[in-house]
Amino acid sequence: MDIANPSEEHMMLREMVRDWTKEHVEPQAFEHDKHERFNLELLRSMGELGLLGISAQEEFGGAGLDATACAIVHEELSASDPGFALAYLAHSMLFVNNLAYNGTEEQKSRILPKVCSGEWIGAMAMSEPDAGTDVLGLSTTAVQREDGTWCINGRKMWITNGCLDDQGTPADVVWVYAKTGTDERGRVQMSTFLVEAGMPGYSVGQKIFDKTGMRASNTAELVFDDCIVPAENIVGAPGESLIHMMGNLELERLTLAAMALGIARRSLEEMNKYATERSAFKTQIRDFGQMQRYIGESWAKYRAMRAYVYDTANSLTIGTAGQRLDSDGVKLFTTTAAKEIADAAMQVMGGYGYVAEYHVERLWRDAKLLEIGGGTLESHQKNITRDLFKDSEAITR
Ligand SMILES: Cc1cc2nc3c(=O)[nH]c(=O)nc-3n(C[C@H](O)[C@H](O)[C@H](O)COP(=O)(O)OP(=O)(O)OC[C@H]3O[C@@H](n4cnc5c(N)ncnc54)[C@H](O)[C@@H]3O)c2cc1C
Repeated sequence: MDIANPSEEHMMLREMVRDWTKEHVEPQAFEHDKHERFNLELLRSMGELGLLGISAQEEFGGAGLDATACAIVHEELSASDPGFALAYLAHSMLFVNNLAYNGTEEQKSRILPKVCSGEWIGAMAMSEPDAGTDVLGLSTTAVQREDGTWCINGRKMWITNGCLDDQGTPADVVWVYAKTGTDERGRVQMSTFLVEAGMPGYSVGQKIFDKTGMRASNTAELVFDDCIVPAENIVGAPGESLIHMMGNLELERLTLAAMALGIARRSLEEMNKYATERSAFKTQIRDFGQMQRYIGESWAKYRAMRAYVYDTANSLTIGTAGQRLDSDGVKLFTTTAAKEIADAAMQVMGGYGYVAEYHVERLWRDAKLLEIGGGTLESHQKNITRDLFKDSEAITR
């Protein structure tokens, strides 16, 4: 069995996305990175392919596919344009999947068809200017008013798809985490809200420019200033955010790892091709032992990444929590490996590797974000060590 294409359907999905990416994503990648522009229309058009709601239930307009399918799409997009792939991830994994698995029936039937078709673009807002890794250190608050509506105050930072253009048009709908009190043990009680464009008090603070990489995705600061959200837009009961967050984070980390795999694959392809085409001292540079070390080690790392990504994907059940050891482990390993492989490609390609036309410098810049977003390397190290304390038998299982 091919671990990365465990069924005929997975193989067909990969071929379809690969062909579509070659035709539609690849030609625009360079320009959108260069001008820090997000290709909103291209993302919307993925609705027609059924990819925006890839994991959402079919009755609400989704494709109802599994974690392996999600990994395949992220790998394929990222092998061409990781910035665009990140915007796709924020929409389809951080918003759509979260709603599909945690929303009420009413919320799902009202909102999922719009986000699955691409009529609405979604985002997820957890991070804040003063709280990232320390999720429970958040300061955005939501207070329920007498009429049952909620009033949200605070700012969210680094939100992918938070704005849709350079004019500050906000995402159509955002999955927002806010503090709604403390429980009987004094712990922060966090709740989840669906904030829609046009709701009073919801706006874009700023689009964040001059990012190192992922420049083809928009990153924004969002402002909630006495933002009034109807009672029906709280997800589940107050205090249930941790349940939503934990299940969804595992799929987020897996798909970020799949993005790393796409970067690694493309970098390897580019360095391998170049090593044949380029000669120095009257010989192909692939004949030099030092070049062989870059290529050989990159191949071995790429194959290990591929095996770990799809081993994790094949055993991850969307909508459940409990696979954190591997969703953290796979992201920890693959993101640094992708950065190293892109770096090796640049080294093999010399001066050409350092300019945008040859792709790998963009992949190298994009790869760095994967060591930070969706959990830093350090948070994965911490989680793995904690989980192995609780379940040391995982090592020998
Ligand atoms: C381009 C981009 C897109 C993003 N998209 C989104 C998005 O769509 N939605 C969203 O909510 N967020 C998003 N983020 C935010 C991202 O998830 C955070 O940047 C990340 O979680 C780290 O948080 P921080 O930046 O506040 O860093 P901090 O949490 O302040 O960390 C700073 C450093 O301290 C280390 N550190 C912190 N705590 C510990 C600890 N206990 N032990 C050891 N080391 C520790 C960290 O590992 C890190 O090295 C995005 C970020 C970027 C840059």
